[in-house]
This record gives sequence, structure tokens and C-alpha cells, in this order.
Amino acid sequence: MSYLPVLGLLLLSVALLYQGRAFLSWVLPLGIAFIYWRVSPDSWGTGTAGLFAIYALCVIVFGVPLIRRLVLTRNILPAMATIFPKMSETERVALEAGTVWWDADLFSGRPDFQKLLDFQVAPTSAEERSFLENECEELCRMLDPWQIHNDRDLPPNVWDFIKSKGFMGLIIPTEYGGKGFSAQATSEIIAKVSSRSVSAAVTVMVPNSLGPAELLLHYGTQEQRDHYLPRLADGRDIPAFALTEPNAGSDAGAMTSYGIVCKGQWEGEEVLGMRLTWNKRYITLAPVATLLGLAFKLRDPDGLLGDEEDLDITCALIPTDTPGVVHDRQHDPLGVPFFNGPTSGEDVFVPLEFIIGGAERAGHGWRMLMDCLSAGRGVSLPGMSGGGSQAITRGVGAYASIREQFGIPIGQFEGIQEPLARIGGLTYVINASRTLTAGAVDAGEKPAVISAIVKAYLTESMRVVINDAMDITGGAGICLGPRNILAQAYHAMPISITVEGANILTRNMIIFGQGAIRCHPYAFEEMSAAWDRDVPRFDRALFGHVGSVFSTFVRASVLGATCARLATPPLPGPTATHFRQLSRMSAAFNLCSEVSMATLGGSLKFRERLTARLADALSWMYLSSATLKRFVDEGQTERDRAFMEWGCAHAHHEIQQALMELLDNLPNRFLGRMLKIKLFPWWSRVQPPSDHLSAKLAKALLDDGEARRHLTNGIHIPGPEDLGLGRLEAALDRAVQARAPRKKVKDAQRAGELPRSDELDILDEAVSQGVLNEIERDLIIDAAKSRDDAVQVDDFERS
Ligand SMILES: Cc1cc2nc3c(=O)[nH]c(=O)nc-3n(C[C@H](O)[C@H](O)[C@H](O)COP(=O)(O)OP(=O)(O)OC[C@H]3O[C@@H](n4cnc5c(N)ncnc54)[C@H](O)[C@@H]3O)c2cc1C
Repeated sequence: MSYLPVLGLLLLSVALLYQGRAFLSWVLPLGIAFIYWRVSPDSWGTGTAGLFAIYALCVIVFGVPLIRRLVLTRNILPAMATIFPKMSETERVALEAGTVWWDADLFSGRPDFQKLLDFQVAPTSAEERSFLENECEELCRMLDPWQIHNDRDLPPNVWDFIKSKGFMGLIIPTEYGGKGFSAQATSEIIAKVSSRSVSAAVTVMVPNSLGPAELLLHYGTQEQRDHYLPRLADGRDIPAFALTEPNAGSDAGAMTSYGIVCKGQWEGEEVLGMRLTWNKRYITLAPVATLLGLAFKLRDPDGLLGDEEDLDITCALIPTDTPGVVHDRQHDPLGVPFFNGPTSGEDVFVPLEFIIGGAERAGHGWRMLMDCLSAGRGVSLPGMSGGGSQAITRGVGAYASIREQFGIPIGQFEGIQEPLARIGGLTYVINASRTLTAGAVDAGEKPAVISAIVKAYLTESMRVVINDAMDITGGAGICLGPRNILAQAYHAMPISITVEGANILTRNMIIFGQGAIRCHPYAFEEMSAAWDRDVPRFDRALFGHVGSVFSTFVRASVLGATCARLATPPLPGPTATHFRQLSRMSAAFNLCSEVSMATLGGSLKFRERLTARLADALSWMYLSSATLKRFVDEGQTERDRAFMEWGCAHAHHEIQQALMELLDNLPNRFLGRMLKIKLFPWWSRVQPPSDHLSAKLAKALLDDGEARRHLTNGIHIPGPEDLGLGRLEAALDRAVQARAPRKKVKDAQRAGELPRSDELDILDEAVSQGVLNEIERDLIIDAAKSRDDAVQVDDFERS
């Protein structure tokens, strides 16, 4: 017989696999072969018939669950149960915390972009917008970063304003006297305040982030909520949350602070309580806190609560005026003026009702913390990165436009355009991801993996932004003083990198570790079924998984070979290519993670260089999808197109680099090389943003055009009396107005109508020769004065 039909069937099978129909792709060829044999029995040679007989046997063994379980699954399960990594209870709780959302689609290799585009990011309410435009703007106007730097604290009137206007209770519901604002509004408030002052932003951020209020809202008893929430909302109580210890930093579960359940005297009566001993450090607001959230391990050696002696991590609220609470010292976090310090206590007795949620929540602390972190981490630091990057974009764009060297604005040099474009592009991506994530939190998600992604990658992107900005501004970024627009963000950068899960740990361990288990469609089910020795469940998960791997292999290879041309985008137009590439990257990522897990098993947990690259790929996929969604949601305007294209090109190149490096370093060298050729053949590799695109972005930041204003929308822009951003804005405004008259002078010089001397020296001559009118001359003079003033740096009396 001809082998053409066999080839046809094979192609059909591949097409079905590409569509994700693994089972059908195995069964259908068999059915068609059977019909073919019935119609034309003579055309079958023994070879072909034998081949199909083996194929049929495989389909029966793999495809009929009952036979498969008996023949295969029962024997595979015991071996697999030993391969899957064992987890401590602490690790398990951390991995199970929060919810899974769009990250699961990206992980699956087959993201449903329509689902993302249909997701509505809830807009801020009229009340929230009014707060942003009034109270928040007023707070920003009251803040003088240089004065705060010198005084090492916010002025008393600012503290009063923050408390009385409800900044401490943004997330506390209105029935408890708080603002009851959404995550989106909270994020925008933090962004706006941080565009003016990092110290004020941290002070506002901490009470609205993981801490007493958040824990009380989710787990507090009614009595605790009624008592504390109104006091926290109006600033009568200043909260701090103490988890970190000298020997328990990233590994917070290793804490040694402890409580012993016992009876003791409280307000003249004998009550059931606990004796607490703790030693915590790095605690934000601790030196000024009136209410300390404390995490410790609770023990009940006398069985006063039940049979269990070690009750595990517990969270309690301790008023700091309780005898024995020490919080009178402070750290100096890189000179950034906000309160942070150690706290300790020895045998401090408090009643059991001080446990958040009461005695029945004893031992539930770790789960409570991990759950709250899953949402909170996605709001606060992304908000700070969003506002910070916007303020830098605004200031550095202006600086590069007015600062002239070699006779032209430095922003026109290609060398400056490269970092300038990175600043603009990353600012677009950061704020797209910040908004999408806050939207997810408002929709009720506690997106554990996504919040880790935005915490780590938005702060890292902000670090790139601030470093680029320092390079562009040269000495003006280095000399401290009221004119310096970068120093406070530069000093504060390592703090964002370190807190709420240090970035190296988050990138290397948490994102893929949690993603692989939570987002993977089968891994968690396989593991738990194997540990439970549940054959039917394990069978369903394992063979669903096998089918999905075959299908992803085909899809990733086809998309790799065709440069993603066969992927279907959800929309036509400028986003189509990028959606296609993202589909391809998702399939490649899924296959790479499957191969890493299959070849390394439990030891993948310790191969952090590999899991970090998988985290890079997953994270940049999220950032790219947020960028695309922002562009679509904002009407796909020409104004933003270059920013979207830069963001996607940068993200897809990062993903490709991460996956190629992963494959280069896979211990199974053959598999690594083979997959690299399949997924990223030389003809279809994605390129980083082109020089042309970067120049386009940089130019958009140099003029005070619509794109620049839209990109920095929502931040505080100080008036011209402000020596930093205010003066730069004013100088840019004048520089733009003087641009056309200056060009006339240059053209006249080139034509030999005016001497080639300094522009300012020939202005009167230009007027007398009719090159300029007097208004134009004054515009040039004003712009020069303004420019001269804005590029000055501060100097001080020698000390
Ligand atoms: C300004 C500031 C404010 C803070 N505010 C608070 C607060 O209010 N409350 C509170 O409880 N804590 C607070 N912290 C503590 C903060 O959460 C910790 O600093 C952080 O968890 C890291 O702990 P560590 O500093 O001890 O570093 P370590 O845990 O010693 O880590 C050092 C480095 O090792 C890396 N690392 C650790 N384990 C791994 C791993 N398995 N794989 C790869 N890399 C790893 C980390 O990423 C980090 O880069 C604050 C810290 C600072 C600096």
C-alpha cells in the first residue's frame, strides 16, 4: 500500500494535537485506518497492518482508563510518590495561599486572551477620585522632601493631616470610620504620594498594607474590629507589624519568638493568657507604634487549650503601652526618613483575647499572613513603583530636553535615547501591571503568584528606571539638595527590593515554586493524589497531563517554526503580532517547565538558577499581557502605540532569553539542545526593541506632548516655586515655546545671515535683521534663563 494515507493520518493527528485534542488525535487515525481497511483490505501490506496493530494496542492501553489503571497507573504511582518533593507544613501553607487567576492561563501554554480582554478593571469611584484630587493633592503640596530629609521626620502638621484626613484607614470600611477604598484607589493614592515623597508614601502605605488592619478585617473577632478599626482609621492607633527576627528574615517561619499559654493577672483578675517573649527587627513604624501586631510560636505545655502542645505561628495585637513592650530604639534605613526599628519583650503577659480572631485562631497565624500577603503585596509596592517611575519619567524627560551639551539637548543623542526609552517603556509596563493587578484584587482575587510577580518585577523595573535616570542626569542626580529629583527614590530603592519577600528569594524560589504547583493544571492534583495513594485521581491527572504535554510540544514547535504566525490573536490591528508572540511564548514556557519538572523531579526545587529563569519567563508574560490589555482598554491610540510595542518587544525578548538560557543549562544536554532548536530556531527569534522604536519613545518624552502627559497621568506636579520637578517643568514649557524661534536663528546662521556666535549674543541683531520679532527674542531669553536655573545644583556652606 501507499504510505501517503499514513502520512495524512499522521498530519491529522498533529493538527488535532495542536488544537489540544490529545485523545481524539490518537483515536481518530485508528478509526480512519479501520474504515480504510474495510474499504480496501487488499491494499494493506503486513508491515502497515502490524504497525497499526501496535498503535491500536497502545491506544487501548493508554486510552481505556480501566485497563490503564490496572496495567500502568497502579505500578507508576508508588515510584512517583517518592519523586514528588516533600514539603514542610509551612511550605505547604505558603504554596496553597491565595487564589489563581490569569497566571494559570499563561502557565497553561494556551492562554485565552479574550478572557483577559473581557475582564473589567473597575474604575475608581467619584469619592475616590475626589480624594485623589483634593486631600491627596493637598498632602503632596504640604510635603517638602528636602525638609523631611533634614528633619528626619514628617512635620507635625503633615502627621496630623495624614491622620485626620483618613490616610491611615484607606482600606478600613466606612462603618468603622475608614475610607473603604478599593485596591485601585489605594494603589493610586500611594502612587501619587510617592511621586512627591517616599517617606510620606511609606508612612501611608504601611498601615494600609499587611498589618493589624488587614488582619483584623479578615480574621478579627467582632469585638476586636469594633475596638481597633475606628482607632486605626483615624490615626489614634499607629500600627506596626512585627514578623522579622535576627535569625528569621526570608525564612520567617524559623522565628524563635514564642508565647506560653498560662494563667496570669490582667487588670486585677486572673485570666487565661500567654507569656510572650520576642526579639524583632526592621519593623516599620515600630518606634512610634501604639499597636503592635506580633507573630510568634505559641505553646501550650499545660494543655490549657487542648491536647496540642505546639500550636505553631500565631498573630496577636499588643498595645505598646503594655508593661514590658520595648520599642524605643530605631534603625536608619539608608537615611530615608521614616520610622523603622527593633522591638522586644520578655515574659510579657497578655490575655488570650489579644490573639487576632481570639483563642480559636491560635496557631493559624502563618496561613493568615500568607493569605493577606497574596493580595497586599500586589498593591502597595507596585503603587510606589508606579508613582516613582512616573515622576522620574516626567523629570528626566524634561531634564534631557533642556540640558544642552555640544550645542544640542542631550536627549537628542542616541546614547541618551536608549536609557530614556527604557524609562518610558518600563513606566508604561509598570503602570499597566499595577492597574491590572489592583483590578484583580478588587474583583475578589488574592492572586498569590501574580502579587509575587508584580512585587519583584515592578520593583526591579523601577530599579532600572532610577539607575538610567541617574546616568542621564549626571551630577545633577548626585548632589543632594532641594533641586535633586532622584536622590530619595535612589536611596529608597533597596528597601522596596528587600521588603515583603526579598527579590532574589521571590524570583528564584517563590514565583515558579508556587506557580508550578498552583497554576499548573495537573501538578498539584498529581502530587496530592500520589501522597494519598488515590489511583483513579492520580490516573486522571497523570494522563491528562501526558496528553497536554504532547499537545504543547506540537503547538510550541509549530509556533516556533512559523514565528507564531499560526496563532490566532483575539483582535486584528497593532496588537495582533504581539498577542501571537505571547501565545508562542506561553506554549514554549509550558513545555520548558514540563521538561524541567520531568527531568529534575524534586531536585528542581534546589536548582534555583533554573527556576529563576522560569520565573522570568512567567513574569514577563504577565507584564506583556498587562501591557497589551492597557493599550486595548485605553482605545489603542497612536499616542501610546510605541510604548505598547516597546513593552511587548522588551518582554518577549526577556522571555526568549530566559528560556534559551534555561535550555542551555538543562542538565539533560540533549533535550536542552533539541528543544532550543525546536522552540527558538534562528529564523524566528524575537528581537529587542529596535533603535528606531526607542528613538520614537525618547522623543515623546522630550516634548511636553500628550504621550508624556498621559504616561505620567495621576502624579503630583509641583508648581514653579518647587526647586526640583517644578522648575524643570517650567523650563521645559519655555524651551518648547522657544523651539521655533531658536530654529529660525540656527537656520539664519547656516544661511550666513547671522554670525555663528553664541545664540544669546546675536538676538538683537536677529531682531534688527527681521529673523525674529521681539516676542520671539524674549521667548528665547526666557527659555535660556529658565534652563540656566533648572540645571543648577545645590551647594552649601563648607562645614
Ligand atoms: C526598611 C525595612 C522595612 C521593613 N519592614 C518590616 C516590617 O514592617 N515588618 C517585618 O516583619 N519585617 C520588615 N522588614 C524585614 C524584611 O521583610 C526582611 O528584611 C526581608 O524579609 C529579608 O530578610 P533579611 O533582611 O533578614 O535578609 P535574609 O533573609 O538574610 O536574606 C538575604 C538575601 O538572601 C536571599 N535569600 C534568602 N533565602 C533565599 C533562598 N532560599 N533562595 C535564594 N535567595 C535567598 C534574600 O533574597 C536576600 O537577598 C523590613 C526590612 C527593611 C529593610
